[in-house]
Amino acid sequence: MAKGVMIVAEQRDGALRKISFELASTARKLADQSGDEVSAILLGAGIEGLAAELGKYGVDKVFVGDNAALEPYVTEAHAAVTAQIVKDNDPAIVLFGASVQGKDLSGRVAAKLAGGLATDCTDVKLDGGNLVAIRPMYAGKCFGEVVFNSAPAMASLRPNVFPAAENAKAGAVTKVDVAVDAPKSKVLEVQKDTSGKVDLTEANVIVSGGRGMKGPEGYAILEELADVLKGTVGASRAAVDAGWRPQKDQVGQTGKVVSPNLYIACGISGAIQHLAGMSSSKCIVAINKDAEAPIFTKADYGVVDDLFKVVPELTAVCKKLVA
Ligand SMILES: Cc1cc2nc3c(=O)[nH]c(=O)nc-3n(C[C@H](O)[C@H](O)[C@H](O)COP(=O)(O)OP(=O)(O)OC[C@H]3O[C@@H](n4cnc5c(N)ncnc54)[C@H](O)[C@@H]3O)c2cc1C
Repeated sequence: MAKGVMIVAEQRDGALRKISFELASTARKLADQSGDEVSAILLGAGIEGLAAELGKYGVDKVFVGDNAALEPYVTEAHAAVTAQIVKDNDPAIVLFGASVQGKDLSGRVAAKLAGGLATDCTDVKLDGGNLVAIRPMYAGKCFGEVVFNSAPAMASLRPNVFPAAENAKAGAVTKVDVAVDAPKSKVLEVQKDTSGKVDLTEANVIVSGGRGMKGPEGYAILEELADVLKGTVGASRAAVDAGWRPQKDQVGQTGKVVSPNLYIACGISGAIQHLAGMSSSKCIVAINKDAEAPIFTKADYGVVDDLFKVVPELTAVCKKLVA
């Protein structure tokens, strides 16, 4: 009988990603309710040493697939190995990150296992021992509760929404033999972000700008505020389409879904497609000169004024506070 909660951990360049700890902590919480075990799949090359870190977040057992063919991430190889480990171990629940990599992987794995997958969930709970996944629908206009009639129940969790809490366990490391068939695809080149900034999906603070920034040079004041708050700069699609910011900065339905502790929206009207990407932020501040802008319906704090006046003043105050 299917039993236990399994997570699919993510690492990049030999370091576990934050989402891995969020998955581990969430799985621990669920498993404690059902008295089950938490296991993790960790794939890559030369990554065995990372398994102990997962133990600190409550993982009981880590299946490590260490193989040169699994580094860097390739959908085909990772999906095949992940599906095989799930099949061999028969967990009741499998959790992925709804990160760029997790979104890519989870659909493939679900198809291979012919199981149900609830994507981009913002909450999970157990009902009679069965997983119930809660996910935003219709660009965040409502939330749906998903139940599963297939096993394992699979869900991908939105990054930065679920708390990561240490929960000391001495996670046993089980090395699994991974047979990787000759892949039909291979990574030719990896273009790395050299900005040194935290990825938007993992950022605690995002200062975002839209068409109201007037042009690419307007973003200098957002960069300055973001630097003071140790945050990252985001953008609306209008700004990206205008060529003011790179596509990787886009927040929204066709950009990244973010859930920082603080989201400061500057000169962004709050179109439904933008809200779909940021309305799960814990605190939203909107700066817009139009008091009727829809962004204010989602904002915890709103400033109706010219952003070119407000942002530098806010930066000056923040500088004093962090000095
Ligand atoms: C299929 C589809 C997918 C989409 N996906 C996305 C997506 O992923 N992300 C996304 O963002 N959009 C997306 N869009 C586009 C979306 O509908 C909006 O067009 C876009 O979000 C608008 O961007 P904006 O708020 O920057 O611009 P605008 O709507 O033009 O708003 C600019 C705002 O700036 C304010 N402003 C101007 N000057 C100042 C100033 N000096 N001080 C203060 N405020 C000022 C104005 O009052 C206004 O509210 C999508 C659309 C479609 C159809």
